[in-house]
Amino acid sequence: MSDRRRNLFAVGKTAYVKRLENRAEGECILCAIADGESEIPQLDVARSDLFVITLNLYPYNPGHIMLFPARHVEDVRDYNDAEWSEFRRLEDAALDVLTEVYEPKGFNIGYNIGPASGASIPHLHLHIVPRYPNEVGVMDILSGSRVIVEDPNITRERLSDAFARRLG
Ligand SMILES: [Zn+2]
Repeated sequence: MSDRRRNLFAVGKTAYVKRLENRAEGECILCAIADGESEIPQLDVARSDLFVITLNLYPYNPGHIMLFPARHVEDVRDYNDAEWSEFRRLEDAALDVLTEVYEPKGFNIGYNIGPASGASIPHLHLHIVPRYPNEVGVMDILSGSRVIVEDPNITRERLSDAFARRLG
């Protein structure tokens, strides 16, 4: 390896280690996903300029997804007009896609905002949870006691394809 290549490698490694140290200090994981950082497992099923749609990190039902702004926002009241407009479009698309792929009998949709809400990540994210007959209650879902029933890789593939068709 030439000196030049060795130096480039050394610079890259230092930057990578720094990034890990920043993560340990509380770097926002949703900002990292929005930035497409490669060390994060691929969870996204759709993207626009302003929003990302991913599988939930810990899905409780097939098709449990999160819709969140690429910008670090912690409260819905901080959305600007462009974000509200895009949010409406993507929320509709998400419901259409989940209905097409999973044919649920309902949805629970909501935010956890603020430290007393049970939010594990401050970066604002809308949970969209498809519901099926003969299930446990929503509080069981929000408290994380459900067990996943579909391989997340399969969920991701099915939803990515459906979002690509829906959003064009
Ligand atoms: Zn963030």
